[in-house]
Amino acid sequence: KTRVYRFGNKVADGNSKMKNLLGGKGANLAEMSAIGIPVPPGFTITTEVCTEYNLLGEVAVIDMIRDEVEASITNIETLMGTRFGDKDNPLLVSVRSGARVSMPGMMDTVLNLGLNDEVVLGLAKKTNNEQFAWDSYRRFIQMYGGVVLGMKPASKDDIDPFEEIMENLKGKRGIQLDTEFTVQDLKDLVYDFKEAVKKQTGHSFPTNPWEQLWGAIIAVFNSWNGDRAVYYRNMNGYPADWGTAVNVQAMVYGNMGNSSATGVCFTRDAGTGENVFNGEYLINAQGEDVVAGVRTPQQITVLGSKRWAELAQISEEDRKENYPSLEEVMPGLFKELDGYQQKLEKHYRDMQDMEFTIQEGKLWILQTRNGKRTGAGMVKIAMDLLNEGLIDEKEALLRIEPNKLDELLHPVFDPKALKRAHVIAQGLPASPGAATGKIVFFADEAAKFKNSILVRIETSPEDLEGMHIAKGILTARGGMTSHAAVVARGMGKCCISGAGALKINYKARTLTVDGHEYHEGDWISLNGSTGNIIEGKVETVEPELSGEFAEIMKLSDKYAKMKVRTNADTPKDAKIARTFGAEGIGLTRTEHMFFEVDRIKAMREMILADTVKGRKQALQDLLPMQRSDFEGIFEAMEGLPVTIRLLDPPLHEFVPHQLATQKELAEEMHISLQAVKNKVAELEEFNPMLGHRGCRLGNTYPEITEMQTRAIIEAALNLKERGIICKPEIMVPLVGTVDEFIAQECIIRETANAIFEERNDKVEYSVGTMIEVPRAALLADKIAEHADFFSFGTNDLTQMTFGYSRDDAGKFLPIYIQKGILKVDPFEVLDQEGVGQLVQLGTERGRSIKPNLKVGICGEHGGEPSSVEFCYNTGMNYVSCSPYRVPIARLVSAQATI
Ligand code: ADP
Ligand code: MG
Ligand code: MG
Repeated sequence: KTRVYRFGNKVADGNSKMKNLLGGKGANLAEMSAIGIPVPPGFTITTEVCTEYNLLGEVAVIDMIRDEVEASITNIETLMGTRFGDKDNPLLVSVRSGARVSMPGMMDTVLNLGLNDEVVLGLAKKTNNEQFAWDSYRRFIQMYGGVVLGMKPASKDDIDPFEEIMENLKGKRGIQLDTEFTVQDLKDLVYDFKEAVKKQTGHSFPTNPWEQLWGAIIAVFNSWNGDRAVYYRNMNGYPADWGTAVNVQAMVYGNMGNSSATGVCFTRDAGTGENVFNGEYLINAQGEDVVAGVRTPQQITVLGSKRWAELAQISEEDRKENYPSLEEVMPGLFKELDGYQQKLEKHYRDMQDMEFTIQEGKLWILQTRNGKRTGAGMVKIAMDLLNEGLIDEKEALLRIEPNKLDELLHPVFDPKALKRAHVIAQGLPASPGAATGKIVFFADEAAKFKNSILVRIETSPEDLEGMHIAKGILTARGGMTSHAAVVARGMGKCCISGAGALKINYKARTLTVDGHEYHEGDWISLNGSTGNIIEGKVETVEPELSGEFAEIMKLSDKYAKMKVRTNADTPKDAKIARTFGAEGIGLTRTEHMFFEVDRIKAMREMILADTVKGRKQALQDLLPMQRSDFEGIFEAMEGLPVTIRLLDPPLHEFVPHQLATQKELAEEMHISLQAVKNKVAELEEFNPMLGHRGCRLGNTYPEITEMQTRAIIEAALNLKERGIICKPEIMVPLVGTVDEFIAQECIIRETANAIFEERNDKVEYSVGTMIEVPRAALLADKIAEHADFFSFGTNDLTQMTFGYSRDDAGKFLPIYIQKGILKVDPFEVLDQEGVGQLVQLGTERGRSIKPNLKVGICGEHGGEPSSVEFCYNTGMNYVSCSPYRVPIARLVSAQATI
């Protein structure tokens, strides 16, 4: 079995399809090499070796790959004409992590490996550039120290031990930038760094390049199980057994002086999706300098540069003089880069995120990958690629990550409120969106407030968790490709970066702008689309589904075969869902209407009544309220089917449990407090979810079903008089035996007929049932003889199939998931293996009696992508989900057919 794959010099052992084995970075380095893009030669140690390492340990694994690695280093030496560890003509390499999916900054990389006190002299002599050689050496010790030798800050308030040494020297020398160090400074830094390593780790810094190389390879394997990587993996649901590949690659140097540079670029705008080549670079810099926000990076294109200057309020002269674009500084190289970006985007047929380095006038590409993007960017890029003919309609639909659409459905700032807003500063619009929250200064304190805005000088990969929790991210330093910006865009989180006017004091926990001080806990708002930082809270409004989003939805409807309805209990929700494209209501929960203040009273009187007569009296009061609710919902859903579920929850949910409210109720009803208390005690159940609820209520108190039917049918008739057509579907909950259903159906039909006679008019309606008790699924054929439709209530079906109480599962589910006993929460993601069988079986048996039986789902699962796909494969007519999930379900419904 091959464990090491080589690339370079226009050939490669691997290709871009081998991401699982070579990691994304390795696979794409191989592909680029093969299609003639200049990448420094190197090799990839496979992800399988990482897994082997985790099982067998360091010694065994090094033995296993030693020969292949040594031969591959020789190969690089031949191609580069240098030698690893040679003190006159040295080869230096980078050791880079790379999992099968990109996890930007989550794992480790070491640059300039192969340097020691002797080799650095050779490098200086060979390049005739002492500055460069010592700069590379100090960077190497710094990275190797951090990644391999564990030289980390002691706590979050401490600064990195190496940074501290550099800051001290800068202070002493009165300089600001890393580039201002003299050769002597760099030599001193190297000395001090090595001393610091010895002091903190008890060992000297390793001088043997081979020892360095193995140390770095093992450290990269270890970084797969580092805190950051584990958190990122869990957040995205990537399994631990994927492992990371290790890429060892000849170094090219962006830090060799003013004809050298390094940068990051995107073939399109990752925030908005706009089709403009863009990116950032720094002259005389290496690797992460651009991303880390050490210096203010400059823009690649003239267009980008002008836009940036406008936001930063920098004049055109100043821009040209101090922050010119690469296009202006190195026009020839820019053209070459522009050529590669076009070639790579065409080749991969997707937006690319690339890294490049210019070494003394020669351009090298170091990485390409499908770029992370916001939800809005994702939609626009997919539609643009379609219109440009690079992908077809089906591909465009598949390019949309369903859950990412969610970002586009979130509220946006109210334009009216924005006009009044007090803008305190301006930063770069790093990731669009609207965020309002209270200021926090530390990532691990993001959860301190319900809505927080993380305010940092800059962010680092350690901050990931806090960035995830915060509503928005604001940084004083860093550009559009800074860590904060890239990560925020990937999360679809609003982010403003590089707001230079902000003075942040971590110790005092203050943010100062123009002499005005803001504190932890103060409200601020971020407009990620403009870069405006706004004082206080800004009102938000519902977004509109227009432009490319509307086009994607239209395309979805063209391919989708299964309909999407919504769960809605109010006319307002029904209207929102309709604008999102819902084709009806799959579930209206009637009980929610009873919880409103003026109604709960009537409801309680009904429950407390001891006689049928008393109950009917109270129900009489509820009838007009319920009827007008239905009229509102029917009107909002004009012409579309509306499924209404009869009363479902156990009655004890409606009675007061507090003494004060019990007293109130007793007074109002002119009965004794004791009577109320007795009734409450009487309704107490050991297992309410398996107790007196669902159709068991309607069958013990038929007058409830009667009243609800009357409200529904009368509402429909009233609307008919006004010329509005509605199609009520009355749904009986929690049926387990066919006779339970028959008894309810009987009441419903008799009541409806009586009304039709009274009014001398008719409406069409149907009577169906929920399938949510396992027994109902098993006996679905019997039930289908009577029911007009089925709707799978997968919340209860999951609860009863697993035997997990939904209300108590919080105690053990998280532990089950953590231990891997369950992969996911079955209440979120439909358990296709188990509960899914009942859904399939129920559908099949039902349709064996009524081939055209209408079947849908109305649990929470109806808006969860993998579950929606399952519903399509089961042959359902529709899924029903909350209004905000409707567009997601429409998309998945289309994707499922492709
Ligand atoms: P990440 O996955 O975190 O982006 P990378 O492995 O891509 O880490 O490397 C970090 C930085 O170092 C990147 O900017 C990359 O371009 C740079 N780099 C990596 N290998 C080399 C090399 N051989 N020569 C020059 N720069 C390199
Ligand atoms: Mg990279
Ligand atoms: Mg239920």
